[in-house]
Amino acid sequence: MNKKSSTLAIHGGQPVRKQPLPWEFPGAHWIDHEELTNVAQVIKAQSPFRYYGPNCQFMVQQFEASARQQYQTPFALGVNSGTCALHIVLSAMGVGPGDEVLLPGYLWVSCVSAIIRCGAIPVLVDVDDTYCMDPHDCQQKISPRSKVIMLIHMSGAPGDIHAIQALAKQHQLLLLEDCAQANGAAFQGKPVGSFGDAAIFSLQLNKNITSGEGGLIVCHDEALYQRCFAIHDLGYARDQNGRLNPQDENNQCWGVGSRMSELTGAMALAQLQKLALITEHMRQCKWQIRSAIETIPGLSCRRILDPKGDSGAFLIVRFDRREICHDFVKALIAEGIQGPPGSLGCLPMTDWGLHWYFNITSLINKTSNAADGFPWSHPANAFHTEISYQAGSLPQADDFCQRSMLLTIASTLSQEDVNDIIEAFGKVARVLLENN
Ligand SMILES: *Cc1c(COP(=O)(O)O)cnc(C)c1O
Repeated sequence: MNKKSSTLAIHGGQPVRKQPLPWEFPGAHWIDHEELTNVAQVIKAQSPFRYYGPNCQFMVQQFEASARQQYQTPFALGVNSGTCALHIVLSAMGVGPGDEVLLPGYLWVSCVSAIIRCGAIPVLVDVDDTYCMDPHDCQQKISPRSKVIMLIHMSGAPGDIHAIQALAKQHQLLLLEDCAQANGAAFQGKPVGSFGDAAIFSLQLNKNITSGEGGLIVCHDEALYQRCFAIHDLGYARDQNGRLNPQDENNQCWGVGSRMSELTGAMALAQLQKLALITEHMRQCKWQIRSAIETIPGLSCRRILDPKGDSGAFLIVRFDRREICHDFVKALIAEGIQGPPGSLGCLPMTDWGLHWYFNITSLINKTSNAADGFPWSHPANAFHTEISYQAGSLPQADDFCQRSMLLTIASTLSQEDVNDIIEAFGKVARVLLENN
């Protein structure tokens, strides 16, 4: 290699590439005439409400039917966001004051807010090198108050689902899979979302398929589905004409107003049909990159339990020390490994905001929406005074955050983009890692 091309761009050399990589939003790139056709159909029918209308097209219903097939569950319910989906499921599971919900410290803020808004107490569990919940730490954290394990399949790939499933069974806990970041992922051929008592997905713009906003609940038990249904709506069941039925005594509760609109359903239906293609493309690109870089001394890749089941949306790489990690990312970005201005394509995980428990200020400060401090003030939750959510609570998560980086794998990378990413990793590693 000539001297010019081996000089890093941060040291004044030529960058590997000058064009930004594509935006990271996987589903958005694939929005096309299928979405347009479905949405137009709803508009032409003048029927954007899912339960009745002058000429309802039942897009949400079709989306739910596809989802039942895709995720191998007998029940599916479209809702308006992943955040609400989490809240609805926990509420339907009866989670409330006095209950603990176990969740990993690498997460999304919605996971915590859903627990708090149910009036329960979150119990943080450390991660292992899958960057998902560590089953050993989970076992340590189970108490007589534990009610639900929330396993979050983070950054595109499944957590240790069999181990967590066994724990839930052994301790008679409910298992909720948060698949918002791993739609289309699988473990040993079985889709994420099919393992837990219930699972949720998100259709927000950053996710593997998108309708801008939207969410999905899937579950195995009919009574649980019916409770989710009532809660996602106005607290009651509906009859065959889509009208509220307040007389059904098994389904009289309080609703949160999270129905999915037909416009959302129309997009979600078209996107779900593309999920396999989208994840296949990301997985293929990601594993080319990963295979090329994982043998570089001085870095290691996140452990993926089943590469075939990786949705491929993210590459996580870990270094020996924080300084090296941060220098490496700066150098990669200078080589042109970044998206358009404003994108979060390539970053140290210290910049990954509300994905880490210790950045959630409302959790650390035990904030309440209510004047009386609920749920922290509830007598059944008095035990929370022994729990801290400050940085330092989860040694492995704290450590991995400091010295890991994350590269989002766009769903439209070309072979040239993939080659550039590989070349940039190699170029930066030759200078920064061998000197260390
Ligand atoms: C995005 C996300 C959610 C929330 O989904 P929204 O549709 O944005 O409300 C929940 N959990 C995880 C892990 C997420 O990444």
